[in-house]
Amino acid sequence: MDLEKSLLRKVGEAIHRFKMIRDGDRVAVALSGGKDSATLLEALLLLEKRAPVQFSVCAFTVEQGKFLRPIEPLAEYLKQKGVAWTYYRDAASFRLIEEQPGHGCDLCSRYRRRAVYEVAHGLNANVIAFGHTADDFCEALLRNTMFTGRLSALPPVTMSSDKEYRLIRPLVFVNEEITAAYAARCGAPIVPCGCSQKTGTVRRALRDMFASLEGEYPHLKENILSAMGNVDTSRLLDPRFLDLDGGAKKNPFPILAEP
Ligand code: SF4
Repeated sequence: MDLEKSLLRKVGEAIHRFKMIRDGDRVAVALSGGKDSATLLEALLLLEKRAPVQFSVCAFTVEQGKFLRPIEPLAEYLKQKGVAWTYYRDAASFRLIEEQPGHGCDLCSRYRRRAVYEVAHGLNANVIAFGHTADDFCEALLRNTMFTGRLSALPPVTMSSDKEYRLIRPLVFVNEEITAAYAARCGAPIVPCGCSQKTGTVRRALRDMFASLEGEYPHLKENILSAMGNVDTSRLLDPRFLDLDGGAKKNPFPILAEP
């Protein structure tokens, strides 16, 4: 299937299935400088013109002092496309690098989140779109399972804690083969982040594991994605979802009262 058709079909499926975008939404795309968010922006710009739902798209980039190349080519690319783009240099993140150069992802992402909400507020957006791909969802599932003792991946759609923004991940069904090919086809400039070059990380180990298995099992990630949407709670170990009362029908969501 044509690359663009395949991309739009998968993004459209995610938006529809998880009710990501609604009439009147203003969607701010978080551009990280990588191929995934660049592809996401292109897909949403195309859908903005074609989808039956009326919504608008803008974009922003938060600079946290980790880009390895100048941002100007990205600025020029977006200007030529007529995309409303905000570049936000997060002073607090720069201070963090100076004061705690060895800080971890927790702190870095907390700073980023704060900056993202601030920028989205300035853009008058009510939806923030992130470029996490099918690969990210599969890796997150394994990482959380193996290292946090929680069976979870990433939310395809969720609200910010103050309920001001809907946070969406429309590339949930799109793999990085597609984003790499599509971003290259569009000529989107890539501004890599220093962290993407790190070796010896859990993320890198999981990527290598997938790469070695996928030679023999090419549909591995598709199967993992399907599994995430087809949970058999009776074959897991969470008592909230098990029938421990000998056949009495149990509300699988105990927080909701039985009628
Ligand atoms: S990988 Fe790098 S940029 Fe990403 S959250 Fe961790 S420290 Fe921050």
